[in-house]
Amino acid sequence: MSVIVFTEIDNQQYKKSSLEAISYGKKVAQNFGLSCIALSLDTLSDTATLGKYGADRVISLGQNTAFTSDNTAQLVAEACKQLEAQIVVISNTYTGKSLAPRLAVTLDASLATNVISMPDTSAGFKVKRGVFSGKAFAYTDLTKNIKLLAITPNTFDIDSSGNDITPETLSVTAEASKISIDKSDKVVGKVPLTEAEIVVSAGRGMKGPENWNMVEELADLMGAATACSKPVSDMGWRPHAEHVGQTGITIKPNLYVAIGISGAIQHLAGVSSSKTIVAINKDPEAPFFKAADYGIVGDAFEIVPQLIQALKN
Ligand SMILES: Cc1cc2nc3c(=O)[nH]c(=O)nc-3n(C[C@H](O)[C@H](O)[C@H](O)COP(=O)(O)OP(=O)(O)OC[C@H]3O[C@@H](n4cnc5c(N)ncnc54)[C@H](O)[C@@H]3O)c2cc1C
Repeated sequence: MSVIVFTEIDNQQYKKSSLEAISYGKKVAQNFGLSCIALSLDTLSDTATLGKYGADRVISLGQNTAFTSDNTAQLVAEACKQLEAQIVVISNTYTGKSLAPRLAVTLDASLATNVISMPDTSAGFKVKRGVFSGKAFAYTDLTKNIKLLAITPNTFDIDSSGNDITPETLSVTAEASKISIDKSDKVVGKVPLTEAEIVVSAGRGMKGPENWNMVEELADLMGAATACSKPVSDMGWRPHAEHVGQTGITIKPNLYVAIGISGAIQHLAGVSSSKTIVAINKDPEAPFFKAADYGIVGDAFEIVPQLIQALKN
């Protein structure tokens, strides 16, 4: 019996959210007296280091192919069966969201998404989940033999106090994918929005795309990813991949800086779980100030250059 943690690879590296998932999986495994197995689709140069984050075993499936939800779900399900998975931990990323339901059906498992707590086993197997875009919590009891937990990124700490371990390989097969990827566009050389610890975001208050230089400069100086409100991406000022909110990406960085964004409920739905929120807005009545931890009332065109200068100093 084991706790299996599915890991994701991006740019030949394990994602930070996967390292969080392993450290989470390790704690769960300890609580249940199980072993924690990190599952990697392929073997990378740093596969052995997954042991540092809590994996008792690291198992590679030797699949050097692009992720496709149907094929990958079969491979992971097959591995889970062979390794007698009792609990499966994945990260609630785009990949995790497309994998989790398929995996749950194939394994006949109970699935909880957006998990933000350790399992409470005082009565059943309950986890706390963020629901309604983070506006409320739900406590879900997982009743089937196999439990699948999709944990929210940036919620659990990474514990790197373990040691490297020698990866093993496992032979699994699956039908060829019915999905073909014709084209994929990737943001390169920037902090991915969903992985970012700090996000600098701007809205219609920036007046036009030509003014985003200062937003990007501020983000670069802070080591932050950039984001935007919906109208900004709708108008083509910024790419849709940066749109956060109810109809965009939900993020949970440690610091979210909102510049010239009103703070409409639909925007807040995607960012209100950020640990610290700073709003910069010239309107002292802007709704964002009610959700923010810190607020600067003033003109972004004066304040952002001052912040840039202060960071440079
Ligand atoms: C079904 C539905 C789903 C939606 N989903 C989303 C979503 O996912 N994400 C999202 O963002 N929106 C979403 N919206 C839109 C949302 O309701 C708001 O219209 C939108 O968030 C407003 O964007 P904004 O704050 O950039 O623009 P505005 O509302 O125009 O606000 C601009 C702000 O900038 C301030 N400002 C102006 N000039 C300056 C300056 N020089 N310096 C400082 N501040 C300045 C203004 O005071 C104002 O507060 C959705 C709406 C609907 C109906």
